[in-house]
Amino acid sequence: MSARARALAATFLLQWSATEPPVPDALVNLCGPVCVLPAHLPVGAVGTLFREPPFGSIIWLRKDEPPEARRLAAFHHMGHLALHPEILFCTMRGIADLPTEQEADSFARALLMPDRWLKRDVKEMELDLGALAKRYDVPHEAMAVRLRELGLLSA
Ligand SMILES: [Zn+2]
Repeated sequence: MSARARALAATFLLQWSATEPPVPDALVNLCGPVCVLPAHLPVGAVGTLFREPPFGSIIWLRKDEPPEARRLAAFHHMGHLALHPEILFCTMRGIADLPTEQEADSFARALLMPDRWLKRDVKEMELDLGALAKRYDVPHEAMAVRLRELGLLSA
């Protein structure tokens, strides 16, 4: 987990005064003008970012993906906008091992599943992965990764 991704995600949450999940989709706009559009993208490309400074950015989200997967992809790209000025294009396909991709994923998880909220909810709701994923509006796998990251779920 990238410390700067975590710190930046916490700053955005404070800026928005968000205190309860799910984090609003509109928060994706905090890094400048972003146009988020549904698109026919190839299988495996949940979302694609195209950035054209200084004009703004476009995030295309694959129409056939479940809404929570599209949402996670949008916030992955917000991670690039916030942390990686050098990245002008990302398709999320076959590049998951790159440090910048992992950092964008860390950012999305930290923003959509803030540690304090999740620790509180795990105490109150116990470890019901499905209920937690629904409450945070994220894919089950992402919730499982986040819980492991926080030491709330064993590997
Ligand atoms: Zn990416």
